[in-house]
Amino acid sequence: MKSYRKELWFNTKNRREFINITPQIEDCLKESGIKEGLLLCNAMHITASVFINDDEAGLHKDMENWLEKLAPEKPYSQYFHNGYEDNADAHLKRSIMGREVVVAVTDGKLDFGPWEQIFYGEFDGKRPKRVLVKIIGE
Ligand code: ZN
Repeated sequence: MKSYRKELWFNTKNRREFINITPQIEDCLKESGIKEGLLLCNAMHITASVFINDDEAGLHKDMENWLEKLAPEKPYSQYFHNGYEDNADAHLKRSIMGREVVVAVTDGKLDFGPWEQIFYGEFDGKRPKRVLVKIIGE
């Protein structure tokens, strides 16, 4: 069995961003040489997510609005977690959007359903943060 590991770094301009990282994940898969197996991709931070959904700008705005209703960033004083930090909303948003995705690798490709794309969801950005890519298989 082959095994591959890589860290991808992101430093977003804004506090919150969704980035389509599918091309970078496909590069990792190519580099690994693995044709059949499983690919895990997870945020290495507790205020960021990796998730799969449609790459459609309207949907991304809907997600942002929905998350902001569930866990508004402000006022910061509404959260017990805030004090030294101001990122309680980011922890909550990450919990909803998830930590990781697992994708089947078939014939050297990500075995996606229609429209599936992998996103990095940043909820407390403007600093360097990492995503882990781990691929196992043959
Ligand atoms: Zn925090």
